Amino acid sequence: MRPRVLTVLGATGTIGVNTLDVVARHPGRFEVFALTGATQVDRMAEQCRVHRPRVAVMNEPAAAAALRDRLAEEGIAVEVRAGAGALTEVATAPEVDTVMAAIVGAAGLPATLAAARAGKRILLANKETLVVSGQLFMDAVAASGAELLPIDSEHNAIFQSLPRDFRGDFQAAGVKALWLTASGGPFRTLSAEAIAQATPEQAVAHPNWVMGKKISVDSASLMNKGLEVIEARWLFNARPEQIKVVVHPQSIVHSMVEYADGSVIAQMGTPDMRTPIAYALGFPERIAAGVPALELMGRQLTFEAPDMARFPCLKLAFDALAAGGNAAAVLNAANEVAVARFLDGAASFNAIADSIAHALDRLAGGMAATLDDLLEADRQTRRVTGDYLEAIRA
Ligand code: NAD
Ligand code: MG
Repeated sequence: MRPRVLTVLGATGTIGVNTLDVVARHPGRFEVFALTGATQVDRMAEQCRVHRPRVAVMNEPAAAAALRDRLAEEGIAVEVRAGAGALTEVATAPEVDTVMAAIVGAAGLPATLAAARAGKRILLANKETLVVSGQLFMDAVAASGAELLPIDSEHNAIFQSLPRDFRGDFQAAGVKALWLTASGGPFRTLSAEAIAQATPEQAVAHPNWVMGKKISVDSASLMNKGLEVIEARWLFNARPEQIKVVVHPQSIVHSMVEYADGSVIAQMGTPDMRTPIAYALGFPERIAAGVPALELMGRQLTFEAPDMARFPCLKLAFDALAAGGNAAAVLNAANEVAVARFLDGAASFNAIADSIAHALDRLAGGMAATLDDLLEADRQTRRVTGDYLEAIRA
């Protein structure tokens, strides 16, 4: 068998590291063409040492220069490139057949969309890409014949629970609804008063999953589930009312598909992202992921309704989905700005939802036909949200 040739966008992040962990378990099965990161030179140097990619990309020119020196000292022959343009180059290079899209935020959009246009097999972790550019992205996938495999554990579970030949027709497949499970995050049982006082340290301490900081805060606010509702809408061609959210604090049932005959098919597993990553890397074969077996004896699985009053971000995401157009791009950009400020200690936890509501009020309703429209909505929202957060702080 010819090895699959991989580019890992966001290799130095949590998903990137887990991806390379699975790759390393299957010598000869994968060949790493390119690895990319933003600023973490030490980790990228280590990854180059182990995986010997042909190209390494660092976002920051200074980081690229430092990496180049480091690799030259050690005699490791890897071509180092810098900047956003280089991300697109390695995502579309003709040698590459598979792209793991694991950059965090809308920053991942241009390269991920380019990979879609180039007809690659895309392992999609970067949910913000679909939230911002859903229709455009899915059109690009359809036009090029790219293959899209979801990495987000919920969407991967739904993908596994749908018929293999599912093409977005709920009626034909007898599908009634998609059920996204949510852990409820670290603030699930806190009062609204306690949530208002939440610190970044509390927000990033997720009970079940180890993840990057941004998605950890999104999990605490339930915005992560909101983004996933929008992601599911596009991935599976679901109408908003066909997407349900249920809180399942144990994170064992990763999501479910409800069928017309009353069957509900779920995918379960130990909460470890290497399972969906291995599923997508090996697809359609099942390959080892290094994940401990699921131990069900003596475990309780519980389910409860999400509380949109204490977690308004989830409601805002449903609102943005209903509004259509540029609203999801606005929601996403406002969230990215507010979460970064919250992590810096410069905004309260509740300011995240407030900023998003403000941005949607001001900017939703604009055009979203082209990539430029969406990038413009993203830019405007970042400006408006930055100003808003300064104003409410003063
Ligand atoms: P992370 O913060 O750990 O890693 C992010 C990666 O993106 C790093 O390699 C970083 O260097 C790179 N990056 C950041 N900003 C960049 C920029 N401006 N340009 C280029 N590269 C940049 O994040 P993560 O937890 O690995 O999440 C990555 C994506 O996967 C996110 O979209 C997240 O929502 C999604 N996801 C993550 C998990 C998880 O368990 N971690 C689960 C489901 C989905
Ligand atoms: Mg998820």
